[in-house]
Amino acid sequence: MSKKIQAIRGMNDLLPSESSLWSALDETINNLMVSYGYKYCSTPIVESTETFSRAIGEVTDIVEKEMYTWKDTSGDSLTLRPEGTAGVVRMMIEHNLPREGIQKVFYNGSMFRHERPQKGRYRQFHQVGAEVFGVSDAKIDAELISITDSLWKLLGINASLEINTLGSSESRSAYRELLHDFFSENKDQLDEDSLRRLDTNPLRILDSKNKKMESLISNAPKMIDHLDDESKIHFSMLRNYLDSLEIPFTVNPKLVRGLDYYNQTVFEWISNDLGSQGTICGGGRYDGLVEKMGGNPTPAIGFAMGIERIALIVKDQSNQINKTKPHLYFVALGEKSQIESIKLSKKILSALPNIIITNDMSMGGLKNQMKKADKSNADFALILGEEELLNNQLSIKPLKGQGAQQLIKLEGIIHHLEEIL
Ligand code: ATP
Ligand code: MG
Repeated sequence: MSKKIQAIRGMNDLLPSESSLWSALDETINNLMVSYGYKYCSTPIVESTETFSRAIGEVTDIVEKEMYTWKDTSGDSLTLRPEGTAGVVRMMIEHNLPREGIQKVFYNGSMFRHERPQKGRYRQFHQVGAEVFGVSDAKIDAELISITDSLWKLLGINASLEINTLGSSESRSAYRELLHDFFSENKDQLDEDSLRRLDTNPLRILDSKNKKMESLISNAPKMIDHLDDESKIHFSMLRNYLDSLEIPFTVNPKLVRGLDYYNQTVFEWISNDLGSQGTICGGGRYDGLVEKMGGNPTPAIGFAMGIERIALIVKDQSNQINKTKPHLYFVALGEKSQIESIKLSKKILSALPNIIITNDMSMGGLKNQMKKADKSNADFALILGEEELLNNQLSIKPLKGQGAQQLIKLEGIIHHLEEIL
């Protein structure tokens, strides 16, 4: 026997048994975004490496060590997208979209990062993200947070909101100097990663996960104490909006997010049900990015959520989203009934599109087909034998719980199913 071929570590199959949960998640998120006036868009999985290195920033975990990058035959450097914002911004500029006024879009797709695989952290994973272009007011920051809050409620997820502000780019540069000075004075306490970041991106030292640096970081100057007036107003407007929406939050001064492009508002939603991979959604404002990527200056903000992490939480709950559709198993006996069963299934499904009908394909006898019906986890068996066919009837047998088998006239079948399903 030849050696078995296996999937790449950290890149998962979506098994048929798990796909209904994923479809329900996609559908719920899709409906929610559309109902808030966001339009779906999609960008290629592969882009020029520069799309990401320029947007995300050279001195970030993603660009430094997590991207799948290669040279194609023409010598161009290409990369599998590690996140969605860079591509969407590239698309917006390429098609001149911000010129058409405020743009609200969302996307849904695979992302790729070369990380150490563990629960909730994979090398291919899925994000749904939203981006808004052309609004600088904190009202949109609040709307995005409010949409995600509604989503957790729809999915029955408990998550807490952390927010922070990174200030305007001016106040951020002044703060950067302060941080640089502070960490330079305490160089002996920095780990290797942080030493490297000291001169290039001292803000990133703040979200180091190294426990040994925890107390040093908590003593570092805080952005929130060094905001200019514009940033102070923006942040207090956001807090007002959140208060009036009754969305509880905590201000976490250490929240800087892993990507370079953020300014003003940043936020994360954290679930307690996932251990250390608890962040299910992160977002923030990136007013400078469109210009940095070659477009006209355009304020912008977005979020991205990790679908694997959300699916891990929702999987263990028996809530609305986990409810499967009513399921019928069609048992047909004899050649004529087999033909009729396919026709009838088609008729029933066009009238009742939200149910599932499994047509038996083993062509066995009654006992054999009923065994399969029981195993299929269907709610009812539809039984069409020669006698039923002759009398224009169909038997319906409940497969779960009580209730007797019933004979129904074929012309009344849809009406009957509507009543019992
Ligand atoms: P983390 O701190 O967990 O590495 P991040 O800051 O790198 O997260 P973002 O780039 O903000 O993550 O991505 C948004 C969301 O995408 C995260 O909150 C998370 O839910 C999900 N996500 C990020 N990386 C992964 C991954 N490797 N596997 C699965 N989900 C991920
Ligand atoms: Mg990460």
